Amino acid sequence: MYTLPVRATTSSIVASLATPAPSSSSGSGRPRLRLIRNAPVFAAPATVCKRDGGQLRSQTREIERERKGGHPPAGGHKRGGERGQRRGGEEEEDEQLPLPSEKKGGASEGEAVHRYPHLVTPSEPEALQPPPPPSKASSKGMDPTVERLKSGFQKFKTEVYDKKPELFEPLKSGQSPRYMVFACSDSRVCPSVTLGLQPGEAFTVRNIASMVPPYDKIKYAGTGSAIEYAVCALKVQVIVVIGHSCCGGIRALLSLKDGAPDNFTFVEDWVRIGSPAKNKVKKEHASVPFDDQCSILEKEAVNVSLQNLKSYPFVKEGLAGGTLKLVGAHSHFVKGQFVTWEPPQDAIERLTSGFQQFKVNVYDKKPELFGPLKSGQAPKYMVFACSDSRVCPSVTLGLQPGEAFTVRNIAAMVPGYDKTKYTGIGSAIEYAVCALKVEVLVVIGHSCCGGIRALLSLQDGAAYTFHFVEDWVKIGFIAKMKVKKEHASVPFDDQCSILEKEAVNVSLENLKTYPFVKEGLANGTLKLIGAHYDFVSGEFLTWKK
Ligand SMILES: [Zn+2]
Ligand SMILES: [Zn+2]
Repeated sequence: MYTLPVRATTSSIVASLATPAPSSSSGSGRPRLRLIRNAPVFAAPATVCKRDGGQLRSQTREIERERKGGHPPAGGHKRGGERGQRRGGEEEEDEQLPLPSEKKGGASEGEAVHRYPHLVTPSEPEALQPPPPPSKASSKGMDPTVERLKSGFQKFKTEVYDKKPELFEPLKSGQSPRYMVFACSDSRVCPSVTLGLQPGEAFTVRNIASMVPPYDKIKYAGTGSAIEYAVCALKVQVIVVIGHSCCGGIRALLSLKDGAPDNFTFVEDWVRIGSPAKNKVKKEHASVPFDDQCSILEKEAVNVSLQNLKSYPFVKEGLAGGTLKLVGAHSHFVKGQFVTWEPPQDAIERLTSGFQQFKVNVYDKKPELFGPLKSGQAPKYMVFACSDSRVCPSVTLGLQPGEAFTVRNIAAMVPGYDKTKYTGIGSAIEYAVCALKVEVLVVIGHSCCGGIRALLSLQDGAAYTFHFVEDWVKIGFIAKMKVKKEHASVPFDDQCSILEKEAVNVSLENLKTYPFVKEGLANGTLKLIGAHYDFVSGEFLTWKK
């Protein structure tokens, strides 16, 4: 039986949580396989897994390591344009930025903030029914939204996945990303697209306004678990926080009025993480127009997130020991610019060269795509995907800029409605459904998911090894119980494969506990799709709820 050690050493954490190495499956070299199946596809039994196969990042690793101890203050180094717009905050390692204490705020300006008086106080979340298994009947529907996902995957499979075994084969046995990236859920700013980050290269969190909240085990298990997993288990070397132009979350933050009632259930509470930045901008740039204040705030909020990162003990330790660096960045999709600060120089070169390639080869060449996106986003999809560096849906499904508002967290979990614990994901769902009016919510599980392994490995009554991870993955507890009961005799790795899909079902059920989702489902403006990406066999499966 698989157990998480009570006091895990670093290596035992890695052994427990790193993704498994399937022993016999192979997705490449089978170009004509049925790509899409509407039945669960189980990964081959896995052997004990080791992270860090080494090969997968040879390119970026060639760049020599950062100089020791270099952790310049924010704003100390910038590249690209907009040099005059911000200055770095003075930072001290120990300082923690408290969450702002004000409870009330309201938004009456800023086009990204709308009023939704019909959003009533939510009723008690429904008791979760054990969700049905993936339906085998979903192929009959010819639903264009599903077809879009499938054809996107098919294109990826034949044009990328099958053609680059040298990239994807090593990734089947584990991930060892160099970067952890925080990016906004905004459909226009996927860092895999804008920075050309390759599968395996960046463990990615996407949330409203790419906010990193301060350490808080109760309120922010979602973000906390991702940071912890990235730093402690995956040993990422660089954490990058990327703000962006025309950010709706930043507009919402700047629009908050003291004492006014909140328009949303979650959004205001989430963006208030950036209140210290807002206060700074209001004070230092009081005379500047609202839109310009937003532009400045987009970068200052990144500084708050960088500061908040230091409130996590494992981050602080990594910074002190020189194994971890922080980078602030801002992507300006109206001007087509990308700026960074807080250098380790080599990481910045990787990011800026990735952006330059995107700029020259994609952005500048497709004004018909990017032109309209400069004035707003109207994504059809909201996608939940794991932070795992191998599963970016922009890559695997070919989702285009503007097409999918995207949340990425550990194991693509969607918790049930909870204003106290889950403002991060609640705000994203609320914003996507109520403000952006997305039509489809897609939850995508994946093969060899470390978060799912952690969930299945949890022992009743055992002490937690992590600060956050166990608490976060327990969102899928019902699915785990189901798998343990119904598939008691199958090996651990096969149970993991089943659980990857059952956990998606739990997330789909949990989505229904959000009143705005329930409403959209009831009146037919919204639908839910479950999906699973198996990067070992090279298959993508969908089902409807
Ligand atoms: Zn944004
Ligand atoms: Zn995962």
